[in-house]
Amino acid sequence: MKPFYLVAVFLFCGLFSFSQTYNTDVEDIINDVNLDSLTYYLRNLSGEDPVVVNGQTTTIEHRVSNWGNDLAAEYIYETMQGFGYEVTMQDYAANGKNVYAVKEGSLYPDDYYMICAHYDAVDYYCADDNASGTTAVLEAARIFKDLDFEYSIVFALWDEEEIGLIGSYYYANDANNNDQSILGVINMDMISWDGDGDNEFEIHTSFTSNSDDLADYVVQINNIYNLPLEPSIENPGTTASDHASFWSNNFAAILLIEEYYGGDFNPYYHTELDRISILDMEYFHNMSKLSIGTLASLAMPDNTISVEERFANSSLELNCYPNPSNGKTNISVMLKEEGNLKVSLLNSMGQKVKHICDDYQLQGENNFEFNTSELIPGIYLLVASSTKGNATFKLLVQ
Ligand SMILES: [Zn+2]
Repeated sequence: MKPFYLVAVFLFCGLFSFSQTYNTDVEDIINDVNLDSLTYYLRNLSGEDPVVVNGQTTTIEHRVSNWGNDLAAEYIYETMQGFGYEVTMQDYAANGKNVYAVKEGSLYPDDYYMICAHYDAVDYYCADDNASGTTAVLEAARIFKDLDFEYSIVFALWDEEEIGLIGSYYYANDANNNDQSILGVINMDMISWDGDGDNEFEIHTSFTSNSDDLADYVVQINNIYNLPLEPSIENPGTTASDHASFWSNNFAAILLIEEYYGGDFNPYYHTELDRISILDMEYFHNMSKLSIGTLASLAMPDNTISVEERFANSSLELNCYPNPSNGKTNISVMLKEEGNLKVSLLNSMGQKVKHICDDYQLQGENNFEFNTSELIPGIYLLVASSTKGNATFKLLVQ
């Protein structure tokens, strides 16, 4: 599979260059993913070490929902609360509790990227399945707590995955009914077993919404930030984890997992022998870096200048109509000074889907026309840049 991805990545690189997605802030975030921190949460969640919950020292002996796993839910709740988030305990059924926290975006507060994992289990310990994914979500929440992002982020931990994706389906269905704009979901389930030490892992995807673009985006992040992992894209991917709840509700979603189809799957899966001692912590560290780096890149770190400053300093104004659009669309760019102007349309993954202008333009109003009828419906970002500034415009294609 590997040669195919090299070709795909070089092709992408040649056409659009990596500058769209490379970001020093993202690199810093990837470097902040800490192995000691990951080990700490993994040991706590898989019952190796005592934890303090509700002021009491105790041990999370198991996370099996039918045996009662409220202690694990409480631990996750208090850990995220400790980072300063307002956390929601979503009691959707007598035995079912999702736990999630939201970080509001500075520029697009109503558009969400999500990182998630199921915390429930089928036996004692179950470190790889899925204390590993749960730990990576907590590590993301820890690192992101003092940073700002343009898009809103949901850190979510699901209950009752093991008995039919119940918790995640409840959330995804509710989000769909409420027209919540979830642009992409990264689900992690079993990300710490690499028995043959080849660093291979799988991205399970589908053609639902732009899940396949999201999978490609993960491959790019792995390459741009020089992570040692070897991705393989599986399409159609498995529906045996929580990302499938988002597919059923028409959201873009992917699963990151060790070699599930590839033949190097954890042989201690769903037994009490699935403990931290059998895991590859360096592989787990890299898988966590990749998923957290992808989330950071999608949500766009915004710790340079404020949104107000950005618009006040801009030497150009960008408008687009009609919005929403489903055919001929007009763009107007007002330039305060003549100069080279670039205008392009990006999809919600930040990939360029249309080149509109790259030419010398005069001072004043410049008009362009393009057609959106062949585009997949969804949210797009129109980006204009001149030598003196830039502007973005969010366009809804129907
Ligand atoms: Zn699992």
